[in-house]
Amino acid sequence: MAPKIAKTAKPVEFKYPRVNDCKFKFGAHVSVSGGVSKAIHNAMDIGANSFAMFLKSPRKWVSPEIPDAEAKKFQDLCKEFGYNPRTDILPHGSYFINLANPDKEKEEKAYGSFVDDLKRCEKLNIGLYNFHPGSSLDGDHKEALAQLAKNINKAIAETEFVKIVIENMAGHGNLIGSNLQDIRDVIDMVDNKERVGVCVDTCHTFAAGYDISTVELFNDFWKQFETIIGWDYLSAIHLNDSKAPLGANRDLHQKLGLGFLGLECFRIIANSEKLQNIPIILETPIEKGEEDTLYGEEIKLLEWLQQKEVDDEEFISKQTQLSNKGAKERAEHLKKFETKTKKAATKAEKDAAKRKKGSLDSLMAKKQKTE
Ligand SMILES: [Zn+2]
Ligand SMILES: [Zn+2]
Repeated sequence: MAPKIAKTAKPVEFKYPRVNDCKFKFGAHVSVSGGVSKAIHNAMDIGANSFAMFLKSPRKWVSPEIPDAEAKKFQDLCKEFGYNPRTDILPHGSYFINLANPDKEKEEKAYGSFVDDLKRCEKLNIGLYNFHPGSSLDGDHKEALAQLAKNINKAIAETEFVKIVIENMAGHGNLIGSNLQDIRDVIDMVDNKERVGVCVDTCHTFAAGYDISTVELFNDFWKQFETIIGWDYLSAIHLNDSKAPLGANRDLHQKLGLGFLGLECFRIIANSEKLQNIPIILETPIEKGEEDTLYGEEIKLLEWLQQKEVDDEEFISKQTQLSNKGAKERAEHLKKFETKTKKAATKAEKDAAKRKKGSLDSLMAKKQKTE
């Protein structure tokens, strides 16, 4: 009889090697399909030093609780693979949470889901939670900001430690947080300022009209950020290129280097000391067949961009290659944007003419009456 050979546990192999001493916490939004603890392997697989995830189905109001065993597994794996859940993980809130909704019933429902998310964070020992600040819809914008702050205060009182991180928005409709002042106004009304932070999404920033595509413009934006909000509040970055042009107010993420921001913006970020040590999370769109490669490749690209100068030959060649890849989509979106802008201008002209005619008519009517 052949001797029994003891089975030794094979070390798990990950597709993209993680650079543990990277100064930047480059990471991505990872799947939790099969349980929240799956996030850690998914993050390791792409060589991430930080990651984002959903705490429950982002499109459902109610989800089953995270089982205790699963929460423990999550924390054990974090320890095993060296992710500090207080600083390296940035869960993303459900998209439909609108704490600023003027409809009281809807506001309450949103608040319930929000606080539930925060409690899930704390069960997993997670220190940061990112969410979209919502919209004033047809209500008064100032009142909406106050309502949002009131709900943040209430949620802070109901939880222990998780920091509530407000994301800036791309600016369509009555969205809150499309300009930095909105976010400042909300923070001003939050009582415990240690428990509130800001996440800057590069795509949203650009779509909202802040150009950050060159060193000068990038620095200008951060100067504004420093003056209006303050560095201490910066808690994370969402890293996306933009399919739509500057000021288009469209939230359309693109892969790094293919959009209107271009690779230069990401070279600048990968060399910005001030952005070290906070989660920098990719949310770029994954096409079919790229599920296992896109984020791993983009993290490697970001690591490669460190210490690259703007006139570096290899950088310029990579920049051109990616820009060419995105050219067709950029042209399509530019055309759409131009058509929309033209339409809006024609409408504004017509409205002005109508108003002018209206006041002329009433003037004539008045005149006729007095005659
Ligand atoms: Zn984002
Ligand atoms: Zn977005």
